[in-house]
Amino acid sequence: MSDGYNFAQLKTEILKLSKATDWETARKEWRLVSISQADEPEACLCGHFPIIDLCTIKNGVTGQSVDVGNVCVKRFLGFRSDLIFASIKRIKSNPDKSIGPDAAALFHRQGIINAWEYQFQQDTHRKRDLTARQLATRHSINRKVLAAIRSRGIT
Ligand SMILES: [Zn+2]
Repeated sequence: MSDGYNFAQLKTEILKLSKATDWETARKEWRLVSISQADEPEACLCGHFPIIDLCTIKNGVTGQSVDVGNVCVKRFLGFRSDLIFASIKRIKSNPDKSIGPDAAALFHRQGIINAWEYQFQQDTHRKRDLTARQLATRHSINRKVLAAIRSRGIT
């Protein structure tokens, strides 16, 4: 059972930053606002160490925000941050590949990719035979995303 991810501790910490006092309601106050990768390993709110893939979540009611590890965000809050990190790994190893829909939606919400790029992403996400121009656009989107992930502190 003990794999270092302490749900009771995470719950207590999240509840402190929430308005609701019961977990099922409190968790609905939160949303995923950004992801990043730590230069130095950090500790998750649950006490797990080390974590590199960080998710910043924000409470829409209290305005509080906090960094939580990728595993806890998926396991306990149900956000598919794992798909977003998978997108990052994919385009890091092959810039000809495309980020997935979950990643595109998040990066658009953050203003990292603009409305036109977001639409382009949806239209061409599954395409393998892009024109030279489309491929250049995909590369440019991927570069923006990777640059944003590298810099800590984006909101
Ligand atoms: Zn955790």
